[in-house]
Amino acid sequence: RAMSSITVQPPKCLQKTFVAPRRHMFGPGPSNVPPRILAAGAEPIIGHMHPEMLEIMSDIKSGIQYAFQTQNNMTIAVSGTGHTAMECAIFNAVEPGEGVLTAVNGIWGERAAEMALAKHKPVLFFLTHGESSTGVVHPLDGIGDICHKHNCLFLVDCVASMGGAPLHMDKQGIDILYSGSQKVLNAPPGTAPISFSERACQKVFNRKTKPVSFFLDMTWLANYWGCDGKPARIYHHTAPVSAFYSLRESLAILAEQGLENSWRRHKEVAEYFHEGLENMGLKLFVKDKNARLPTVTTIVAPPGYDWKEITSYIMKNHNLEISGGLGPSVGQVLRVGLMGGNSSKASVDMVLEALRDALRYCHKSKV
Ligand code: PMP
Repeated sequence: RAMSSITVQPPKCLQKTFVAPRRHMFGPGPSNVPPRILAAGAEPIIGHMHPEMLEIMSDIKSGIQYAFQTQNNMTIAVSGTGHTAMECAIFNAVEPGEGVLTAVNGIWGERAAEMALAKHKPVLFFLTHGESSTGVVHPLDGIGDICHKHNCLFLVDCVASMGGAPLHMDKQGIDILYSGSQKVLNAPPGTAPISFSERACQKVFNRKTKPVSFFLDMTWLANYWGCDGKPARIYHHTAPVSAFYSLRESLAILAEQGLENSWRRHKEVAEYFHEGLENMGLKLFVKDKNARLPTVTTIVAPPGYDWKEITSYIMKNHNLEISGGLGPSVGQVLRVGLMGGNSSKASVDMVLEALRDALRYCHKSKV
């Protein structure tokens, strides 16, 4: 027998057929992808520069403009997750030596913002609209004006809030806004909407230095998405074709349902959920009702219990994902995300039943 050149053998694990478990994805994301969006993603692959693909990208652009409530021409989806869009925003808008101001937590007082902007002269002010780690939705009105008065761009993360809480990019003077595909949009993770205002474009396209990332360089991406007015599209990277099909379908569903209906449903379902939790004797982590993010609810970790036992119990016995805290909220909260198609009273009833069951059967310390 001829000697094989192969030194690493075909892995046995790959001989097994893979079937993904069916789960209720009620954590802070990803959320369940409905059959219609899964089916769109299963369509045959075409070339990333074929005219039909460019049309899909144009549809995606229109869908994002609607979801963001913006007329910005510079509106695209980056190939990557929410973090990719975050890096795209920062890498393109900031040059070496420039300052960035970030609102870390709590509700940002207008006066404090004004003082910090005057003192530190940042070129960019970053705020998360829907803080999925704490379950807080930050008010946005008025902040854009303050930023512009201080010659600062207003950057907002709406990964966890877009489609689930009112947001008007143009009216609220937001200069750069980005989101993700895997939350309210119910598309698979891996594409991220982002939009730049005229003011942001002025800065981004007049840089003295090149952005640190070639992949996220908006000069390239603007051309690739047909936003730079040039007749020819130049190959930049191979778009995740199937992911764009899915994203297009998810934006189509949002457009069909209507943004305001979606905002209203998320609010109503969240309120119904919060009432159910309080009736069970559980406490909400965010005390101020108006500051509660409708998409991701934070529940004070039930005293006497190990939160990990609760989430594991619910996963094992109810096939349902809820999660613990993140960053500063680890150990303090349970987090439940009800986003897009998952935002329904039926889902709430399922979560409440699972929690009731877990509190009955998980170990509770007597102290
Ligand atoms: N920002 C917020 C508010 C988020 O909730 C998340 C995801 N949990 C991200 C950014 C990061 O997105 P991704 O995990 O898709 O990179």
